[in-house]
Amino acid sequence: MIQKINDNIIVIGLDASSNVTIVIFQEGIIIVDTSLFPEKASKIRQFVENTIKKPILYVVNTHYHPDHCFGNAAFEDLQIISSAQTANNMTLMDQHYLENLPKIEKIVVPQVTFVEEWMDKRVLVKLVGGHTPDSSIVYVPSQKLLIAGDLIFNNLHAEIVPDSDLNQWLQVLESLKKYKIQYVVPGHGPVSGESCIEEMKKYLLKILRMIEGKITYKDLLNDPNFEKRKFPELFSWAIDNLLKQRVK
Ligand SMILES: [Zn+2]
Repeated sequence: MIQKINDNIIVIGLDASSNVTIVIFQEGIIIVDTSLFPEKASKIRQFVENTIKKPILYVVNTHYHPDHCFGNAAFEDLQIISSAQTANNMTLMDQHYLENLPKIEKIVVPQVTFVEEWMDKRVLVKLVGGHTPDSSIVYVPSQKLLIAGDLIFNNLHAEIVPDSDLNQWLQVLESLKKYKIQYVVPGHGPVSGESCIEEMKKYLLKILRMIEGKITYKDLLNDPNFEKRKFPELFSWAIDNLLKQRVK
């Protein structure tokens, strides 16, 4: 589904799929995250080139999860930017990791990397961690736009993975207060205003409390912030991952 947020922001994503964000500037376009499928990414590129008629300046990956970067193949001739950690993680994906994923011809690793942050006059890309150690956010001041990657899941349960750090994730969400924000593009789910940041914080905090034995699983399930989120199977997987972290 193509969501036109305003004349400068287009977001492509549906249900549980990851969002691809297109931001249009005077001098060209930037694309953040490229989806799981090179064919889909290629169609997005065609759509962008046919309808907007401006050059694509560069592409950004928020983190190494395949649903955010496998579509890079469609942008191989362009500059692709990510943290050095993300690029490194992409080179380390082994056969075991790739087993249950769609087969792709090759993984296109970002060539422009940064350690802490990367910026130009249009955007800031900042490594923050939390969802994964390599998670970055993208902030576009002229649009008051935050592209949060998988730090935010809106209306669906979060992917809490074995290398997620809930405490750090919560700190990052808290730190987002310093940005002027009108639109938040979550990694998955519909575009929202600032309120989804607070919702996400409350959601993670409750999960943390449950893991620490302070509230019950039932308390979580009855919480409207949990009830309204789709894809409960993601939630069971998240709890599994967190419990395994505690056993380690
Ligand atoms: Zn992710």
